[in-house]
Amino acid sequence: MTSLNNAPVLVVGAGIMGVGIAQVAAQAGHPVFLFDMREGAAAQAKSKLTATLDGLVAKGKITAEAAAATLARIEPIPSLDAAAGAALVVEAIVENLDAKRSLFRQLESVVGEAAILASNTSSISVTAIANGLLHPERFVGMHFFNPVPQMKLVEVVSGLQTDAAVAQAIEALSVAWGKVPVHARSTPGFIVNRIARPYYAETLALLQEQAATPQRLDACLKAAGFRMGPCELMDLIGHDTNFAVTNSVFEANFGDKRYVPSLVQRELVDGGLLGRKSGRGFYTYPEGAPALPAAVHEAPMVTGPVTVHGDGEIADRLEQLVIQGRLSGDAAPSRQRQSAWVGLDIGGARLVLTDGRTAGDIAAREGIADVAVFDRPLLWPAAPGGTLAYAVAPQASAAWRRQAPAWLAALGFVPVPLADAPGLVVARTIAMLINEATDAVQQGVCTPEGADAAMKLGVNYPAGPFEWLARWSVAGVTQVLEALDVHYRGERYRISPWLRRQRA
Ligand code: NAD
Repeated sequence: MTSLNNAPVLVVGAGIMGVGIAQVAAQAGHPVFLFDMREGAAAQAKSKLTATLDGLVAKGKITAEAAAATLARIEPIPSLDAAAGAALVVEAIVENLDAKRSLFRQLESVVGEAAILASNTSSISVTAIANGLLHPERFVGMHFFNPVPQMKLVEVVSGLQTDAAVAQAIEALSVAWGKVPVHARSTPGFIVNRIARPYYAETLALLQEQAATPQRLDACLKAAGFRMGPCELMDLIGHDTNFAVTNSVFEANFGDKRYVPSLVQRELVDGGLLGRKSGRGFYTYPEGAPALPAAVHEAPMVTGPVTVHGDGEIADRLEQLVIQGRLSGDAAPSRQRQSAWVGLDIGGARLVLTDGRTAGDIAAREGIADVAVFDRPLLWPAAPGGTLAYAVAPQASAAWRRQAPAWLAALGFVPVPLADAPGLVVARTIAMLINEATDAVQQGVCTPEGADAAMKLGVNYPAGPFEWLARWSVAGVTQVLEALDVHYRGERYRISPWLRRQRA
């Protein structure tokens, strides 16, 4: 196979992604041919890129020489024949199987036999695009993320017929382009678009059951370290696009209920409430999400002995917070490490770290009315603001309804009430992200390290699913999933065989 070192690259499709790919390739020193089926589109894209690079020069981010050299390497071409010398083709045309197939069939008669053919498809099977090619073994997925110059991740996707050496060559090239390649097997959604589904789906499910407002759910997930809450993120992506990806993953999995799309989102799409681009989605733009109103809580009352239950990082931290805040009065809190739950017993009332069961379930099972559950805090110390969801059992007294948030506030959190939904929002979302990631690994889509890198670099997650799992525990995650499964029944919360095996 020819070395791709500074070899000529043909980028087909001069839209958002194509231009970004052309820029990155040219910056890495490759001569780049840029072709678009729309006449003048490639030249126009180059002019736009010129303006972008000028802006970077003005801000001192790149030198004028580097900008000029990059631009000089990009040649808009009027027909594909002009790119006969390309050693690599990266296709970024419309997301349509027939269009991509026919383009690659045509390209096989344009470029040399040793050239690698790559597609930037975000959702179409790489195996399917290669069907009908004379040399399907040289065809591979090279999935960049938007905006291409900034996003480090490249999913290198092998179809059934892709030669391993071709995938390796694209991985090496991605590194040379300053990217981090992660290898994926061609399966619906590849890595990122598959593992990320629950980030949206769990919030949409909570919205559907009226558990909380978009604002509250966004605030809780942002406090857990996500850069954007799911609602603002869906508004940014566009509900039409997000819904289409969800649908395509659902359909590609033969209607597996795990990936079932949301009625809440379909309603937004049908109503033309597409998010930022239409001026309205979950929020109204340009204003965006309004800040959560500050709540005033009464002082926490010590109605009896305070006991910290459970072992591990969260219980330890709770104990410290109780001591620091002198919340158990003059006496230090007692500690019950051998406990079936994590949290605080405050004179018989319970503030319980969610294990997936609702506060109402726990109250009924334990025969204690004054129970509240709180969400899993992922960051210690809690992020500024420390927003944390909680829910109070329906059978709780009026006094405990006021005291549960008062205690959380005294511990340093900003308590946000949710309806008594199982797993609240962060625990449930993270458990489902972990479940999906372990399933992907189980099916050979990627490695655990690949999944972590992909989620951190492709969608800016604060940690990878396997990193969360290492910090939480297989038993804890499966307990939450099991509780969700018991509560909702159906396929959605079935536990990945990978997790089950680890638990055994
Ligand atoms: P876009 O609409 O901005 O650009 C597509 C360009 O391809 C257009 O300029 C169009 O004229 C041209 N085109 C269409 N059919 C063509 C053909 N047969 N031959 C030559 N040119 C043709 O689209 P985009 O957002 O840049 O997406 C391109 C591809 O990248 C799609 O497969 C998409 O799924 C994938 N992708 C998009 C994103 C994203 O966030 N936009 C992220 C990752 C991957």
